[in-house]
Amino acid sequence: MALLQIAEPGMSAAPHQHRLAVGIDLGTTNSLVATVKSGSAACIADEQGRVTLPSVVRYCEEARTETGYDALKAQKIDPLNTISSAKRLIGRTLADLKQDSHYLPYRFGSNERIIEMQTRQGAKTPIDVSAEILRSLKTRAENALGGELTGAVITVPAYFDDAQRQATKDAARLTGLNVLRLLNEPTAAAIAYGLDNASEGTFVVYDLGGGTFDVSVLQLSKGLFEVKATGGNSALGGDDFDHRLFCHLLEQNKLSQLNEQDSQLLLSLARAAKEALTADNSTTIQAVLSDGRKVDSTITRQEFQNLTQHLVAKTIEPVKQALKDAGVTKAAIKGVIMVGGATRMPHVQQAVATYFGQTPLNNLNPDEVVALG
Ligand code: AMP
Repeated sequence: MALLQIAEPGMSAAPHQHRLAVGIDLGTTNSLVATVKSGSAACIADEQGRVTLPSVVRYCEEARTETGYDALKAQKIDPLNTISSAKRLIGRTLADLKQDSHYLPYRFGSNERIIEMQTRQGAKTPIDVSAEILRSLKTRAENALGGELTGAVITVPAYFDDAQRQATKDAARLTGLNVLRLLNEPTAAAIAYGLDNASEGTFVVYDLGGGTFDVSVLQLSKGLFEVKATGGNSALGGDDFDHRLFCHLLEQNKLSQLNEQDSQLLLSLARAAKEALTADNSTTIQAVLSDGRKVDSTITRQEFQNLTQHLVAKTIEPVKQALKDAGVTKAAIKGVIMVGGATRMPHVQQAVATYFGQTPLNNLNPDEVVALG
């Protein structure tokens, strides 16, 4: 999203009067803020040079809050006061929640109209949590740009309904952020690839993140994108690949009955191994568990792909359904855009390329592409 320098009629172009705007990808797991530097879009990093902000907020003692990496770190020790995945709850009701299979470890209040979570700072809604995340990104952007933001474009999933969109706007309002526009995430990704300047046609956005899979079919006509169909699986993502590898490690090392700490350790090593196998042909996982048992496994990329191929195949079903819902054949698809960190895995790239019979667009950072758009 561009750093807009909006000149209104009668306004001089003096630099101090430039109005600063940013693009914000308010994600389930991570959020990002982007702007334009020297004519091209770039994500803004925090003081440690990290562009992603974990979408986690901790309500601490003495009315203090922590957002991002600090909150994520504290999640295990303070789960009831540390809220993640607020995006799964925003604009929804307790009745919606009952139909959702995700386990969320919070103490939900009894308000039927809006979801509330009891924390040591009282009841907090997903709007409050999202507002904290937006506030943190706003501060980061203002520090980097050296001025007060007057507006932001915020991306939302294409399937968000009016209530979810309104709640996202309410979160922005709580932070004093003026929402210039809510932009559909797949549309933002397509814009990042410059497809809005391309010839007309139908495009697919394949978005495999940490915990969710979304697919969208977009129709570009006269420079405008229309979402023709959306689909996906809200319980399928990179985490499932970690979990499959974790189970394999347990089998290989003849382990059972791990305590929470050892499970977390092996799960994080499985995730690191998965990510390493994107670049390397093999990797080694070594650990000593709390009772002294050792884990020592070498896994090849081929083995990892064999273990997880069924998960990749599971993403193709919603793709077929979305094409059917949009009334298009795969042969009619002009381009396929890869979004989400888990699309870095070579067998995911390969499966999508094979299914569509074309190389997907993947040269932008898949974590940043929505914010950049
Ligand atoms: P996102 O929700 O888009 O931030 O995606 C997060 C998911 O991408 C997590 O499951 C990560 O482990 C995964 N991921 C990030 N980098 C890589 C990589 N190099 N290879 C495979 N998966 C990755």
